[in-house]
Amino acid sequence: ALCAVDDFDFFYFVQQWPGSYCDSRHSCCYPKTGKPAADFGIHGLWPNYKDGSYQSKCNPDHVFDKSEISDLISSLEKSWPTLSCPSNDGLKFWEHEWEKHGTCSESELDQHDYFEAGLKLKEKTNLLQALKNAGIEPNDKFYRLESIKEAIKQAVGHEPGIECNVDPSGHKQLSEVYLCVDTSGMEIIECPILPKGSRCASNIQFPKF
Ligand code: 5GP
Ligand code: 5GP
Repeated sequence: ALCAVDDFDFFYFVQQWPGSYCDSRHSCCYPKTGKPAADFGIHGLWPNYKDGSYQSKCNPDHVFDKSEISDLISSLEKSWPTLSCPSNDGLKFWEHEWEKHGTCSESELDQHDYFEAGLKLKEKTNLLQALKNAGIEPNDKFYRLESIKEAIKQAVGHEPGIECNVDPSGHKQLSEVYLCVDTSGMEIIECPILPKGSRCASNIQFPKF
């Protein structure tokens, strides 16, 4: 067949901590719209299989079309900000996420619904508040990985996956939070398989941003 069948078992909804992205060796640039809020930002909504494998770039013909999401741009700038360099307006990041991942779930979500689903999931899972409620704040301190997972599980109802990065002085930091979502892109579910989180340690830093 020309294209792989557009099926998948669930989504990973991945949010990134900007302070960690900026501390890691690739450094960061603020988007043209200014420094993002000190909050988790969306990285992506990634169709996945239960065995941990996934497809990507499923439909090279369905290129990103900015005009389909004109009503969402200001929300995307706030909740799905880009931190890559050089500084840009975010369209390149959204285009990348759509073409790499979104085209593999087109049977469920068209381009507009894909980005809207990400925005709604972010609103639904207020990660920063969940952590603050447990006394875990972005203040450069180290926290137990288990406490971070537990605080998110309490708030969201399901165990998250946590990924870490390493800053230039070798500190392992809270980098990304993975939650699992059903194929409609609406409901958070228990993860069929959690990411390995192999760069984390039992205590990780939650850096300032
Ligand atoms: P990294 O190697 O930094 O963890 O991931 C690089 C890229 O590979 C991610 O931005 C994402 O596009 C893709 N990726 C990594 N892990 C997964 C996964 O478990 N599922 C899916 N669907 N994509 C992934
Ligand atoms: P992935 O392939 O892991 O889904 O997405 C990572 C790609 O998006 C990289 O090519 C990266 O340069 C680009 N990108 C642009 N802005 C960001 C950002 O704020 N965070 C991350 N993780 N990647 C970004």
